[in-house]
Order: sequence, then structure tokens, then C-alpha cells
Amino acid sequence: MKIPELFEKKKPVFSLEIFPPKRKSGLEKIYDTIEKLTVCKPDFISVTYGAGGNIANNDTCDIAANIKKKFGVEPLAHLTCVNSTMADVTEMIKRFAAADIENVLALRGDIVPGEQIEKEFFHANELAIEVQRNSGLQILGACYPEGHSESKNLREDIQNLKYKIGAGVKVLITQLFFDNQLFYEFLAQVRNAGIQIPISAGIMPIVNKKQIEKTVALSGASLPHEFTKMISLYENRPEELYQHGIQYAVDQIRDLLEHGVDGIHLYTMNNPDVALAVYEKIKDLL
Ligand code: FAD
Repeated sequence: MKIPELFEKKKPVFSLEIFPPKRKSGLEKIYDTIEKLTVCKPDFISVTYGAGGNIANNDTCDIAANIKKKFGVEPLAHLTCVNSTMADVTEMIKRFAAADIENVLALRGDIVPGEQIEKEFFHANELAIEVQRNSGLQILGACYPEGHSESKNLREDIQNLKYKIGAGVKVLITQLFFDNQLFYEFLAQVRNAGIQIPISAGIMPIVNKKQIEKTVALSGASLPHEFTKMISLYENRPEELYQHGIQYAVDQIRDLLEHGVDGIHLYTMNNPDVALAVYEKIKDLL
């Protein structure tokens, strides 16, 4: 199924994101996780891609292929380019197509200063051009409601989005955010800039202290008062933080759905219990 066509037919599109296990020994567990996630009836499940660009050891393609084969759910394979050669990228695109994968999220990948191994790709739009040239894959891309950290400002970042759209990106998925107001302002600016493609909102339920320290800090997302209040109240009460973190994500999603968002993309962190708990509370709205 072509994911961009799904966005034309259905609103909201509900999707989940998982990441491949670090070790091969974790592969069995990821399939258990995916099986549990299918209860959420996702329209598609996306599988992240290591930014290192190592194609030999990469499980994204196999996992994405099995999401379709074993579970009958549409996969979206992520692909990064910043540490890959043109040959790596061409090979990976061929593998995706051979595995009956129809959709790819074309990403640059994070650049660690001084550590860019290859110098053949600099931006996601260059990857999107290659995907389009070498395959019939449908292309999706990333966007940032608060602006990408390397952009001078949000306006510049939104202007740069036009490069990937020009290169064939048909749907955007956002970086996680906790402040819906910032997403609505971003959306208004994007539409004003003439970008009309569907944008799915990336939501991550925060259910433990480790996630706050790692993911939240890394994403650079703003933390609204309501969110920081929840954290300070429950950070030392794990059970309550878990429940309130789920409720925070549910409230965010309900508000987004009331505002007519094109899609909800749930960052599951490979935790099916959390995804299911969120799904249970929003399923009547999907
Ligand atoms: P780009 O679109 O290239 O943008 C990067 C910066 O360059 C921005 O500041 C942009 O404004 C600017 N820019 C863009 N195009 C141009 C141009 N042509 N000329 C000049 N400037 C330009 N990382 C992973 O390693 N693996 C994953 O699986 C993964 N999945 C992700 C999924 C989502 C939904 C999101 C939001 C991010 C994901 N990331 C992943 C992180 C992503 O790789 C990083 O955020 C990376 O720093 C930027 O990727 P991009 O594709 O947005 O890059």
C-alpha cells in the first residue's frame, strides 16, 4: 500500500514507530513486540535506521519486510544517508524494493561534528532524489515543529522543507513535541509557506525518569508548564509517573484530533504496553 494514498483516503492516519534491537538476539523479542502492537490496528508501522550507515548489519529491511509478511501491516522503512556512499544507498533501495517494501522515510541522519564518515550526501532531499531515481518507492520525510537544531530559525527550516518536497516527499512526520500550541503555530506557518502535503504529529508518551533524562533532552523539545509540573510531582513515584505520562500523551492526541490533524505517529520505544494503554483511550476517535 502506498502510504501517501492512505493519507488521501483516511483522516487521521494512525501509525507506530519501532527501532531494531541492538543485538541479533533481540530479533525474536521485536517480533513479539510487533505482534502485540498489531492490537492497536496501526495503519502502518515504521522501523528506524541506524545513522551509522552500515548496510551489512542493518535489520531495518528484514524487520520492515516481516511486518508486512508476518503481520499484514504496512511497513515504512527509514533510511539515512549522511554516513553512506551512493553505492550503499542504491543497494539499500534495491533491498527494500526486493522485499516488497513500498514506502521509505528519507532522512539525513544526525551529524556528529568531525565524524561524518562519508561525504556523498548532505541533506535528506539528496537521498529523496536517489530514491526516486532508483525505485518506485513512496517517499516520506521528517519535519520539526520547533525547527531543526541546525537551522537559524523556524522560517529557514520551513523554507528548507521545500527542497525535500521538490525531491518527491509526499508526507511529513514530525519530531516529538509536548506543546501542541507550538505544533499548531508550525502548521500555520508551513501552510502559509505553500506546503500542502499531509503532516503526521509525532507523539511520545513519557513514562519513566530515564526517558526524561535521555530522549526529552536529546529531542530539544520545549516542555510546557503542565508537563514539567507532572514530572516534578511524580518523578520519584514511578507507578504514578507511568499513568500520568500515558494520560499526558492521550490528552495531547485528543486535542490534536479535535484540531483535525492528518495523522498521529506514536513513538512506541518498543514498549507495547504503553502503546496499547494509549490506544485504548483514543481508539474511539481514530
Ligand atoms: P534534512 O532535511 O537534511 O535537514 C537537516 C538540516 O538541514 C535542517 O536544519 C534543514 O533546515 C537543513 N536543510 C535541509 N535541506 C537543505 C538543503 N537542501 N540545503 C541547505 N540546508 C538544508 N535519525 C536516524 O538516524 N534514524 C532514523 O530512523 C530516524 N528517524 C527519524 C524519524 C523522524 C520522524 C524524525 C523527525 C527524525 C528522525 N531521525 C532519525 C533524526 C534525523 O535523522 C535528524 O533529525 C537529522 O539531524 C535531520 O534529518 P532530516 O532528514 O530532517 O535532514
